Amino acid sequence: MTGNVPDKSLPLLKVQNLSKFYGKNMGCHDINFELAEGEVIGVVGESGSGKSTLLKCIAGKINTTNGSVFFNSLYGFVDLCQCDELLLRQLTRTQIGYVTQNSVDGLRMNISAGGNIGERLMANGMRNYSQIRKIALEWLEKVEIETNRIDDLPTTFSGGMQQRLQIAANLVTDPKIILMDEPTSGLDVSVQARLIDVLRKLVSRLRLSMILVTHDLAVARMLSHRLYVMKEGKIVESGLSDQILDDPREPYTQLLVSSVLKP
Ligand code: ADP
Ligand code: MG
Repeated sequence: MTGNVPDKSLPLLKVQNLSKFYGKNMGCHDINFELAEGEVIGVVGESGSGKSTLLKCIAGKINTTNGSVFFNSLYGFVDLCQCDELLLRQLTRTQIGYVTQNSVDGLRMNISAGGNIGERLMANGMRNYSQIRKIALEWLEKVEIETNRIDDLPTTFSGGMQQRLQIAANLVTDPKIILMDEPTSGLDVSVQARLIDVLRKLVSRLRLSMILVTHDLAVARMLSHRLYVMKEGKIVESGLSDQILDDPREPYTQLLVSSVLKP
């Protein structure tokens, strides 16, 4: 294992022939795409179309049935579906962020906001308490949470703040990619708007790459450069976000855009 710079001639992520079956049930099937550094991809589709399955496979949270997820890491072009547990854990703790729809799945509710941010730094080997606290304070500021809330439990935070804390906790190790599964679902529209604003700033400031899973086409349009439309586990259409949403080619996407298909 060497600490080389990632190979710039390769994409950041390459998903190849990826399939996941739950027994006989298809989660997603034969998914192929690439993600460049600094690019934001939106994955849309109605409920049950396989969006979360795809994201969990990419995040190494579930075993895939078939295919590869190559990640252009500091350790080479690693297939996350094949690499050993230790490397996968190392990559998912440091270079790959994963934000869930429900904060309870992504945060530790019984430790402070600062502790949630500091935990990933400590997992990464950082031991200096005052430095960890300083970085946690900086990150609270970046996601627009008042720094005097650093010692408070996430349970005392609003839904929007919890999501912003989850983002801070994931970005503190400077990952190259962040995976998001319905990060704005269940939030009021104004709270959603604030979260999207924070995300847009971070994406542009940090040149973050992101895969955003959402059933909300408006959210997808605001954040993603390109869109992939999923139906029954497969990608049925892809292209630039504006192009797909203004001029959908596939009948399924047309239904989705005209809101005939309810999520
Ligand atoms: P989405 O996120 O688009 O709503 P999912 O990825 O959750 O879709 O689900 C895709 C398909 O996989 C659905 O048919 C769903 O019922 C099935 N599925 C998801 N998770 C499981 C599981 N743990 N066990 C069995 N089937 C599952
Ligand atoms: Mg889902």
